[in-house]
Amino acid sequence: MKKNVYLDNNATTAVAPEVREAMMPFFEELWGNPSSMHTFGGQVKKYIDEARERVASLIGAHPSEIVFTGCGSESDNMAIRGAVEASGGYPHIITTRVEHPAVVGVCRYLEERGCGLTELGVDSQGRLDLDQLKDAITMDTAVVSIMWANNETGVLFPIGEIVEIVKSAGAVLHTDAVQIVGKLPIDVRNTPVDMLALSGHKLHTPKGVGALYIRKGTRVNPLIVGGHQEGGKRAGTENVPYIVGLGRACQIAREHMAEEMVRVKAMRDRLEEGILSSCPDVRINGDREHRLPNTLNVSFEFIEGEAILLLLDELGIAASSGSACTSGSLEPSHVMRAMGVPFTAAHGSIRFSLSRYNTDEDIDYVLEHMPTIVKRLRNISPFVRKPAVS
Ligand code: PLP
Repeated sequence: MKKNVYLDNNATTAVAPEVREAMMPFFEELWGNPSSMHTFGGQVKKYIDEARERVASLIGAHPSEIVFTGCGSESDNMAIRGAVEASGGYPHIITTRVEHPAVVGVCRYLEERGCGLTELGVDSQGRLDLDQLKDAITMDTAVVSIMWANNETGVLFPIGEIVEIVKSAGAVLHTDAVQIVGKLPIDVRNTPVDMLALSGHKLHTPKGVGALYIRKGTRVNPLIVGGHQEGGKRAGTENVPYIVGLGRACQIAREHMAEEMVRVKAMRDRLEEGILSSCPDVRINGDREHRLPNTLNVSFEFIEGEAILLLLDELGIAASSGSACTSGSLEPSHVMRAMGVPFTAAHGSIRFSLSRYNTDEDIDYVLEHMPTIVKRLRNISPFVRKPAVS
């Protein structure tokens, strides 16, 4: 029987019922403007304060260090562009070759306007060489932006060690933590990054809300100017229901992440082992030791990722591929290229990403069908050598 199995949680997640429930009053009776002087609006403000505390508490920050934004991309843009602008001039920026487009885009935008840009490479496991970072950092380096967890492979970068290198050079460290927040515990008191981006829809809020952590004392210019909201750091009347939803999602993550991720990791590992043992010519992309517990990036040699996705989709299984085919290009993703994944494997790379809503039956269902899909596609693959016809 056909099932619906959603394994694309690094793209977006289902809205948690508790989050939806927390948001509802702000579409109904509590729709006032939190900046208004009257009670009708003013009563809403305390819910924003509560949400700010909940977000701060998930990452070990002080509530005054949290700025609500419209998404993870906005948080990344504000952090990097805002810190560059606050530095006055066109400084040097360091990032990596495997960042999300939200970071790549703003860094290249700033490069076009005169900033120096270094993009650090990774090895075949998707790991950074910290000596490369030490060599790249100069007196002119104002901002270093390095993701905490990679969205395609789940590979974790050693942000603790990176903080030390960047701090000793006197630069500002921003980390794109969009994929790690809500999946693994992080604490900016122990890992003192200067800025950190997160996004609600990766941890069970609707799309359209994010936050930027800005350590007290870090100089960042706002991206959106106008009103005095968010302490003057982000103008615009607050998106109250979504902010409240983000607060609730962070509260749930803080309370349940530890036990949920043990379960999620066990399912991910079973999926990985099941695929490895039932499908030949398969490789796991990314450092298996240092990886998000919910992510599996696997290459099926000699077949197209898109073809696998289509057959999975016919069965009701949602995953994603590493190539940029949807954007009209058949190039493998920039992450697979940076890792030097061979062409025949990079094209067949599939990302499965789980959440707390997945079940063991979901994994059984994928494992039941995967070998047949792979066999069927390899039979028609031009890359698989067929026996010569005499
Ligand atoms: N950074 C990473 C690592 C991501 O995975 C994403 C979303 O996929 C973003 C940033 C952008 O977040 P948003 O979709 O909220 O703009």
